[in-house]
Amino acid sequence: MADRKETITETIATRVLPPTKENIEAAGAVIRRGGLVAFPTETVFGLGADALNAAAVKKVYEAKGRPSDNPMIVHIAAAPELAALTDQHDGMLEQITRAFWPGPLTVVVRKRSVVPATTTGGLDTVAVRNPESTIARELIRASGTPIAAPSANISGRPSPTKTEHVIHDLQGKIDVILSGPDCRVGIESTVLDMSEGHPVILRPGIITPEEIGAVCGQTAELDPTLRQRPTEEERRDPAQFHPKAPGMKYKHYAPQAEMVIFEGSPSAVRRRIEEAKAAQEQAGKKVGVILFGEHDFARAAHDLFADLRRQDEEGVDLILAGALSDQNSVGFAVMNRMLKSAGYHVIKV
Ligand code: AMP
Ligand code: MG
Repeated sequence: MADRKETITETIATRVLPPTKENIEAAGAVIRRGGLVAFPTETVFGLGADALNAAAVKKVYEAKGRPSDNPMIVHIAAAPELAALTDQHDGMLEQITRAFWPGPLTVVVRKRSVVPATTTGGLDTVAVRNPESTIARELIRASGTPIAAPSANISGRPSPTKTEHVIHDLQGKIDVILSGPDCRVGIESTVLDMSEGHPVILRPGIITPEEIGAVCGQTAELDPTLRQRPTEEERRDPAQFHPKAPGMKYKHYAPQAEMVIFEGSPSAVRRRIEEAKAAQEQAGKKVGVILFGEHDFARAAHDLFADLRRQDEEGVDLILAGALSDQNSVGFAVMNRMLKSAGYHVIKV
């Protein structure tokens, strides 16, 4: 193919490639040259660039429309590669990575200078993950460099869990999309801060505080901001809401449709959703419903983002969703996303 300028401000030819050995090699070469490759992982699809190349990482922020202070997760092909990114090597970090890698757990550790500030949003820590997905690990190996990869969606949209979601959001903006199976987990990795000597969960995921606690012998605290919800007044006027974690301010994972969550006992929620649906349809609205089984936490994680995107494709005006119990740790992780999708619009029943 003739040389062309690597620019993402205009439409570029995106190659959608099945993950054959040759295609993974070719995609690795694209990363090495400073290009952008979307790829499947077990959590959600990632949009990858050479994590050690600030110019390449900058293109990821541009392609996604991601605020440049939102740090990226650096993906490695095998646990020993962590040593190239951090000088930290304490016993607890060793226990955690041995227990959960490869897999859907990210650790935040103090960064070495080789990791550019662009990758970490200016922080002196770096988030690192060794994914379980074979395609992801083969791509990292083929690239010969760690890969910085946020989710492969336009910033603010639901994360992509199917190849078609990535094509929808990023075709014409990146060099290669490696196609792959639907993501096994469906929500992003658990993010565990290990940089301060004790484990703190910054983002809940499928790997729970209980599982982490069982491995490292001490309770993994939840970052207190994870339990914050804006009041009704703050929700209507976001300028009044000042959470510590910047991401909490913004609508994330958001469908185009308006979305409301009903929270309460499962039978009352079901009833209220049926009533609200009938009333809104009467008023001429196209209404979609997201209601998972009471104990179907893993399924809810698997389906949530795909369900949100499907509702948009169907041109729904209003999504009525049933809350999951946040007493269950996976339920809590799914609720963390669902609340953001709905801009914290919750009706207690
Ligand atoms: P995404 O890749 O879009 O799933 O987002 C990555 C997540 O990891 C974001 O929520 C970041 O806030 C978090 N993250 C990445 N690096 C760090 C870090 N050094 N310290 C704290 N959180 C981080
Ligand atoms: Mg994301």
